[in-house]
Amino acid sequence: MYKTHTCGQLRKSDHGKTVTLAGWVNRRRDHGGLIFIDLRDRWGLTQVVFNPDVNEEAHKIASALRAEYVVKIKGIVNERPAGLENPEMETGEVEIIVQSAEIINAAKTPPFYINKDAPVEEKLRLKYRYLDLRRQRMQKNIILRHQVNQYIRNFLTQEGFIEIETPILFKSTPEGARDYLVPSRVHPGKFYALPQSPQQLKQLLMIAGYERYFQIARCFRDEDQRGDRQPEFTQLDMEMSFVEQDDVMDIVERMFTGIIEELTDKKLLFKPFKQISYNEAMDRYGRDNPDLRFDLELKTINDLIANSPFKVFSGAVARGGMVRGLNARGCGGYSRKKIDELTSFVKEFGAKGLAWLSVAEAGQAHRSSFAKFLSAEEVEAIVQQLEGEAGDLLLFVADSAEVANESLGRLRLEIGDRLDLRDNNVLALTWVLDFPFFTYNAEENRWDPSHHLFTAPADEDIPLLDSDPGKTKGKQYDLVCNGHEIAGGSIRIHRRDIQEKVFDLIGLELEEAKAQFGHLLEAFEYGTPPHGGIAPGIDRFMMLLAGEENIREVIAFPKSQSATDLMADAPTPVTAGQLQDLHIKLDLEK
Ligand code: ASP
Repeated sequence: MYKTHTCGQLRKSDHGKTVTLAGWVNRRRDHGGLIFIDLRDRWGLTQVVFNPDVNEEAHKIASALRAEYVVKIKGIVNERPAGLENPEMETGEVEIIVQSAEIINAAKTPPFYINKDAPVEEKLRLKYRYLDLRRQRMQKNIILRHQVNQYIRNFLTQEGFIEIETPILFKSTPEGARDYLVPSRVHPGKFYALPQSPQQLKQLLMIAGYERYFQIARCFRDEDQRGDRQPEFTQLDMEMSFVEQDDVMDIVERMFTGIIEELTDKKLLFKPFKQISYNEAMDRYGRDNPDLRFDLELKTINDLIANSPFKVFSGAVARGGMVRGLNARGCGGYSRKKIDELTSFVKEFGAKGLAWLSVAEAGQAHRSSFAKFLSAEEVEAIVQQLEGEAGDLLLFVADSAEVANESLGRLRLEIGDRLDLRDNNVLALTWVLDFPFFTYNAEENRWDPSHHLFTAPADEDIPLLDSDPGKTKGKQYDLVCNGHEIAGGSIRIHRRDIQEKVFDLIGLELEEAKAQFGHLLEAFEYGTPPHGGIAPGIDRFMMLLAGEENIREVIAFPKSQSATDLMADAPTPVTAGQLQDLHIKLDLEK
């Protein structure tokens, strides 16, 4: 071993011991005679002192040291004199008086500071990820991730789950995204698909009798990137047999509560987790993944303005749409410029504009973009509906229900940010329940599953599959935290006839369904237990636990926003020979 102790280990009780430490030079201070170095490894920092009177040669070596050099030193632990301790460092009671030193490896000047958390352009961080990962903040995140994974493994093992790996080279398992395909050399013209999730495989494991399965599984989805998405990401994939919705939710709730309370200092806002229905979430917050750290609910004013001569409002209602608003408490003094910013903001989400009203003191006229087109009574009714008080800013979108919800749901989060209502130290875990089973796909004139193909309809709704599919509710449950969906799951269909009916409703011809999922349909006929599961997204959950804004901060080697690896430079072209082996001819646009 190169070291007898770590750089985070020594205390004043070690005074007088001879020790060997090895690590990186975090900082060097040359005080003329004495040279001080903070030596760093994963466990912390230790101050080491080079005194020319103790060892001249070691002192010479110290003069040559620069940041990030890898060194090994041998010396004696010395309790620092009173007043010279450093309370910022865990090892701050001691220093090492160096007797000998060795440079193991020199280092170029790094492209950014490793020893402080100064802002660095992300591209540069990703190109030199191995240096970025040396930084304290990243080490904290990566170590927390390890602890969470260990917690999960221990917890689920105690609950009778077993960890089973499933293949990466498989067949398309759709979760609504494009597949990543891998060409087969031995079967020319055929492709494997990387799993979008192990969904089918975990269901097959239930049919195989394992009853409680989990896997910390890599999933692959070729979709447009956003802050909380990556082309490959990690799910805690779980499945259980002979269970109902509540049983799955209970396991996850106990596990997540334990993780949060034992591994972090975040505050769990709801204990037990809050539960709301999909309809309520859409109605009150405009989204099925609401951030419940704060109120600011959306209100509908259709009934108040349906007959108004103001066509922007009444026209939207006449076309089957909605006029919805939210009360930005205390923002009544916003300037035109700030309101214009909010208007541009909602336009990004499809709204044509943003109507606004700044509530005045009693007896005075409101400032507003639309009040002049309405009667005084109509205006007051609207103010009341939104519980507006003097100094509030009421904001409205008149559009289809989808656009009104999407734009105002987002605006609610934006206002929450502006009003500092979204405290990263608070976690608001919420179950969203009673999802519609299908959503209608008008373009293709068919039903799309709102979760995935294998989710079971509510038992009492099975007849609706024939008569009125749009009214069917699914046995689906999502776990939401601070505005992010962090887990989605469902009780599954376990009968071939119902699975075939669902395939039919989503426009999958029986022959096609058999070609894609024949193995699963067939398996259903060999004694399939009722089963269900869930798959928390580890990256998103970690992002919230670590208090980060982006999942890339909790993944060791993430892809960039455009799905590339900037360090290794992937994807890259391959040789003509490789393509030939795979029987592939490229047809690239010039
Ligand atoms: N396979 C689902 C997903 O990836 C999760 C589940 O239903 O268990 O979203």
